[in-house]
Amino acid sequence: MPDQVYCVFDIGGTKILLYLIDGAKRVLHKERFPTPAQCTPEQMIEFINRSAAASLARAGLPSTDLAGLGICIAALLDYEKGVVHQSPNLGWYAAVPLREMLQQSWNCPVYLDNDANAAVLGEVAYGAARGHRNAIYITISTGIGGGLYLDGKVFRGSGGFAGEVGHIKPFGQGRRCGCGGMDCLEAWASGGAIARMAKELWDEKEQGGTITTAWVFDQAQGGNPLARSIIEQALQNISTGLANLVTLLNPSCLVIGGGVVASREDFLEQIRARVYELAVAPAVHISTVEIKAAQLGSEAGIWGLYYLMRCPDEQRA
Ligand SMILES: [Zn+2]
Repeated sequence: MPDQVYCVFDIGGTKILLYLIDGAKRVLHKERFPTPAQCTPEQMIEFINRSAAASLARAGLPSTDLAGLGICIAALLDYEKGVVHQSPNLGWYAAVPLREMLQQSWNCPVYLDNDANAAVLGEVAYGAARGHRNAIYITISTGIGGGLYLDGKVFRGSGGFAGEVGHIKPFGQGRRCGCGGMDCLEAWASGGAIARMAKELWDEKEQGGTITTAWVFDQAQGGNPLARSIIEQALQNISTGLANLVTLLNPSCLVIGGGVVASREDFLEQIRARVYELAVAPAVHISTVEIKAAQLGSEAGIWGLYYLMRCPDEQRA
C-alpha cells in the first residue's frame, strides 16, 4: 500500500480532472467529469467529497489515508485565506470560503489555488520551465489564463489576484470581456474570441455547421483575408501583451499552453518573433527569454498542486 496519497482536483471551465497520486509520483487513479454550468458551493463541496471518497475506495484505500487534498480552480481567489471571490464558469460572484468548507470533511490539509498559478508551478517543477527562477505561463484556450513565477516563487500579489494575463488590455477597441471589463486580451485573442469574431462575419448555417477556432485558422491558412485579419489581430494582441510582460518582469522563460497554440508551431513561432521585436531589447537580447510550448498540457495544474502540497516552501503566500 502506498505510504502517502494525494487527491488533486482541477476544476476548469469545461471539465473537472481528479487525480490520485502517491508519494512516488505514481498516478493511482484518474477521472474526468464535465463541469456543471451552474452549481452552488454546497453542491461543489458535495461533489468533491463524494468523488474523492469514491476514487480512494476504487484504489482500495480508506479515506483516512489521504496525505493532502488539493483543489485548483479557474477563479479569482485569495490563496492565503482560501476564499473564491469570483468564478464566472460556476456562476459564483460572492465570496466562498471553499477551503474552510472542505476542511470540515477531511483530516488531511486542504489546499486551494488558482488553476493558472498551479499550472505555472507544474511547468516549473516538472515541465517546460524546469530550472527557471523567473517564468511566465500563459494558456490560450476558450479564455486566457496566466501565472507568474518570480524569484523562485509563485507571485500572487497583495490580494491573490496577480497573473491575470487574460485581462490585461493591449490595444483592442470595443470588445466586452467575460470579466465585465472592456478590451481585455481574452476578448481579442482567446480561442473563444477568435470564434466569436468569425461568427459576426459568417453565417454558421451557410458554412454548414459550427464555426470553431480551428475553422478560422484553416480559413486563414487557405488565404481567406477576413480570417487572416482575425488571426492577425489575435496574434498582435497576444504578442503585445506578452512583450509588455517581458519588458516589465524580465523572465528567462515564457511558457505558452492551451489548445490555440498546441500543435500550431507556426503560430508559436510568430508570437516568439513578435515578442522579440516588441519587448525592450536588453530583456530579450542580453538576458534571453525562452519562449516555448507548455509540456504538461491539461495536467499542468494537477502537477503544480501536487508539487505545492509536497513543498512547504511553496505553500507560503
Ligand atoms: Zn477581462
